[in-house]
Amino acid sequence: MSKVEFYRHQLGKDETAAWLKTIETLFLTLGPEVAAFEKELGEYLVRDRENSTGPLTAPPYVIGTNSCSMGLILALKAVGLEAGDEVITTSMTFVSTVNAILHLGAKPVLVDVERGTGLIDPTAVLAAITPRTKGILPVHLYGQLADMRALRKIANAYSLFIVEDSAHGFEMERDSVRPGDLSDCAVFSFYATKNITSGDGGAITTRNQSVSERLRRLRNHGVSKAATDRKKSSYEHWDAVEIGYKANLTDLDASLLRIQLPKAEEKRQQRARLADRYRAMLTQEIPGIELNEKRGQSANHLFTIHSPPQNPLHPKIWGAKRDALLIALGIAEIGTAVNYRAVHTLSYLIDILKMPRGSLPNAEDIGDRTISLPMYPTLTDRDQERVIDSIVSAWPRLE
Ligand SMILES: *Cc1c(COP(=O)(O)O)cnc(C)c1O
Repeated sequence: MSKVEFYRHQLGKDETAAWLKTIETLFLTLGPEVAAFEKELGEYLVRDRENSTGPLTAPPYVIGTNSCSMGLILALKAVGLEAGDEVITTSMTFVSTVNAILHLGAKPVLVDVERGTGLIDPTAVLAAITPRTKGILPVHLYGQLADMRALRKIANAYSLFIVEDSAHGFEMERDSVRPGDLSDCAVFSFYATKNITSGDGGAITTRNQSVSERLRRLRNHGVSKAATDRKKSSYEHWDAVEIGYKANLTDLDASLLRIQLPKAEEKRQQRARLADRYRAMLTQEIPGIELNEKRGQSANHLFTIHSPPQNPLHPKIWGAKRDALLIALGIAEIGTAVNYRAVHTLSYLIDILKMPRGSLPNAEDIGDRTISLPMYPTLTDRDQERVIDSIVSAWPRLE
């Protein structure tokens, strides 16, 4: 029996052909493919809204980046974050989220998550506001939107910015809200394991024109000119108007993403079907198993289960039962991942944040018990059944 991989990208012949076509053109980076992808992602985010009056119908500005990590740094800078400012965010995320704040010399203020979903808890956000708070950085964990309506109200009341870490998808919707609808910026990832991918890549959306112009400069060393301006007949000088980064998307990558975007909804539905199957089989085979609660339409980026609760006699071996299950699944040749151990329990953040165990009980509990199962459109029903069988046979030894 071959291994059930944790993840398989979905790039095939169409993507290869698009990539080869781009190689034969003049521009490999910051050219027409990047511009076209930016336009198409913007249109995707307002799809099926032409005739509605409530939600936003005009596409946002989109700025392609080389990663979500760099996109977060650019977005925080473009909305005015400065050294010493505080940003409220979640511990249930990839370190990238917190690092973006730290790289700008600002202070991440980590608050707890909702027990059922792992999403940032708006009540905890409200309680963490100080005179130095400048913004909120929610993470749409596993592909489910955080409670953006509640966060928007808080941001309005205290004049805070919101930058969304939307690395886990662009396909989600909750209470008619999509990523970027209620924030200053939303940032997306096209890393190798994300829903669409170019190996590495990202994008930022914003509805603020001056922020969008600043983002375009910041991704290219603060230079006030695009590569395609070279098309003009004679050379023209460019200026650098502020210090920026090298963080743009390339045309080769954009050409891969453009092919995947129209297939994204179909792939999301395929993942949703797999998630429903996981849910049905697990609740039947393991009565009482804790699964992540649903909120709105998920992008179904990851599917997680919680191992049985920690044995109170061994409180010092955090995550022991989960780790035992990871080992059992590894031996059964099932690929797994952990998304995430609460970031405030990681070494360098213990040093920086000084948040002891017990500071964020929900994030810590999820962080000690969560396992991500294989989830991608080409995962077969048989492989999925193998995943379930392996969990079911390991479970009695954990309890
Ligand atoms: C993947 C991921 C990132 C970083 O994305 P990159 O494109 O790899 O920089 C940030 N936040 C979350 C929640 C992620 O899952």
